[in-house]
Amino acid sequence: MFCKKKTFTKMASLAVSAALLLSACGGSSSEPKCAELLDTSSRDISVSVSRIENLTSDFLMGADVSSYLSIDKSGAAYYDFNGNKVDMDGFFSLLKESGMDIVRFRVWNDPYDEKGRGYGGGNCDTNAAVTMGKSATAAGLQVMIDYHYSDFWADPNKQMTPKAWMLMSDEEKAAALESYTVESLTALKDAGVNVTMVSVGNETDNGMSGEKGWTEKCELYNAGSRAVRSVFPDALVAVHFSNPEHDYVTYARHLTDCNVDYDVFGTSYYPYWHGTLENLTEVMAEIADITGKRVMVLETSWAYTLEDGDGSGNTVSHESNSADPFYSFSVQGQADEIASVTQAIANVGDAALGMLYWEPAWIPVQYYNVKGSDADKVLDSNRKNWEKFGSGWASSYASVYDPADAGVYYGGSAVDNQALFDFAGYPLDSLNTFRYMREGHEAEGLTLSQVIMPAPISIEIGEDVYDYLPMTVRGELDNKQRLTFNVEWDEDELSKLTAVGEYTVHCTITDEIPGSDGTPRRVMLKVNVLPHNILTNGDFEKGDNTGWDISNPMAGVTRDDPYRGDYALHFWDEGAVSFTASQSVKADRDGELVFSMKAQGGDLGDGHVVKLVVKNEATGQTYEGSVTLTGWQSWKETGYYVETAPPVFTVSAGDTVTVTIEVKGAAGGWGTIDDVFLAYKE
Ligand code: CA
Repeated sequence: MFCKKKTFTKMASLAVSAALLLSACGGSSSEPKCAELLDTSSRDISVSVSRIENLTSDFLMGADVSSYLSIDKSGAAYYDFNGNKVDMDGFFSLLKESGMDIVRFRVWNDPYDEKGRGYGGGNCDTNAAVTMGKSATAAGLQVMIDYHYSDFWADPNKQMTPKAWMLMSDEEKAAALESYTVESLTALKDAGVNVTMVSVGNETDNGMSGEKGWTEKCELYNAGSRAVRSVFPDALVAVHFSNPEHDYVTYARHLTDCNVDYDVFGTSYYPYWHGTLENLTEVMAEIADITGKRVMVLETSWAYTLEDGDGSGNTVSHESNSADPFYSFSVQGQADEIASVTQAIANVGDAALGMLYWEPAWIPVQYYNVKGSDADKVLDSNRKNWEKFGSGWASSYASVYDPADAGVYYGGSAVDNQALFDFAGYPLDSLNTFRYMREGHEAEGLTLSQVIMPAPISIEIGEDVYDYLPMTVRGELDNKQRLTFNVEWDEDELSKLTAVGEYTVHCTITDEIPGSDGTPRRVMLKVNVLPHNILTNGDFEKGDNTGWDISNPMAGVTRDDPYRGDYALHFWDEGAVSFTASQSVKADRDGELVFSMKAQGGDLGDGHVVKLVVKNEATGQTYEGSVTLTGWQSWKETGYYVETAPPVFTVSAGDTVTVTIEVKGAAGGWGTIDDVFLAYKE
């Protein structure tokens, strides 16, 4: 993971506004850290973790703690669960006691400018890995080395060649990579570091060391692999990719086709970018199946807060995460995320080798706090440390090597809120998740603090309400743990949904509720009973354009963004948006008709038209209702249900009524139409 330019553009502006708006406590190292101003409540949270099922006997749990040394050098402190300050040996012992088997260190070839000033991101070279690796080994941890084969961050967006290799041919580069790896691993071996796994490249989906083609990449993988086999014959060789929602099967076939000698197919998995857990399991199982290799999650993380701790904006923040996520942003949310990802990879079966959390110890050098008084001073102090010790994600010295990203957005930690330590270096109970996952752990004294009310549903009169009712609800405990509960619906209330109108019905949670005295917990749901629709496929649930005459292929029935059910009429065009969808029906009796339509969408420009037109062809009576669309899932409605005095629209048996949806808007406009109703007024 790292340095997505999009994210950092936002971060740069965030850091500035934070400096202007927030105040903080004492900055220089001689002043106290104003511990009284920090919200320390996260430290007191105790987490619940379900036991992970089907763990393989050699399953590895651990974390990448590459930045530890630079944070330590910058003067920040770490503590154990008893509140005692720990040194480096104590830090790695704490990780071991928390249930970790292995730690990973990234290694860059030469992360320094011509004057020897570090690029930041921990200034992670072989020396740093040796220093930390010795402590980790002494603590009984295995060590994984993660070679980026670059002088700075390597990820899906950049795989820059090390300075020393820039003018080399492919063959020369492979030879240089092999001898560099031998040299680096020998230094680790000579220092007694217990290296059990080595990653040849980091997130190499789109390249490695400046090489983009699979043939060239394979030569480099094999050069690294040969080096590992020669220095640490018992260590596993890993390859590492970043996006399990992409085509890993093709990657695996390339590796097989060019005979890459490796043992572990590793992946990153960040929940907000990398697809579902089910997909992760499926994809990694398929990879294991076709390659016969072990599979492993090499990076994952989650935030315990949306606050920023060091004055350098975070990847996961208030601004970037307005949607309600599946895990809460809390200490328990971290435990839930770690356990879910671990279970997902364990579900692969015998091939599952483990999971690593990414940078749980990348805490602020000095933290600031809204209640304090000196943000500028803290930021100044932090900036100096980021530059001097490389404890931020990038220093200004990286700008010559990486001008487009580090050169513009250099700064502190973008992940201090995803650490498993709080901003002042005290461990959170989520750090113990690694231990808890082996046996399960139940936090005591928890109660259900809220039930998340299910979204309202609509049914057409006569439809089976059970086709639409949720059979579970989600709730949150007072430690922010989110649970799913089974429910039973009140049959009496459901039996009354026999006429058009709005109803309230209730269900009762049937599962055991933590901290409950046994009083039944009822949950409310709004049900809207709609009249019988005389349009064909008015709700688009036939899954295609049946019934509708659509004037332009920019609109059609798809699964994108339905209001209700699984389908809706979706539209988008890179040019100007303009289409109609219409159908005619014959009235089978005299009466009065009502009608309505729902729509959502955006980018249609000023003065756009999203209109429902209903015309009785026999009498000429016409109704028009319009909506203005304001964004994704911001549903707007026109027609019968929203008009205070709906028009009296009469038909006689045999009259033809034409319903036309008309949409006109700017180039790039998009949206969906759903639940178009034409019905006899009951
Ligand atoms: Ca930060």
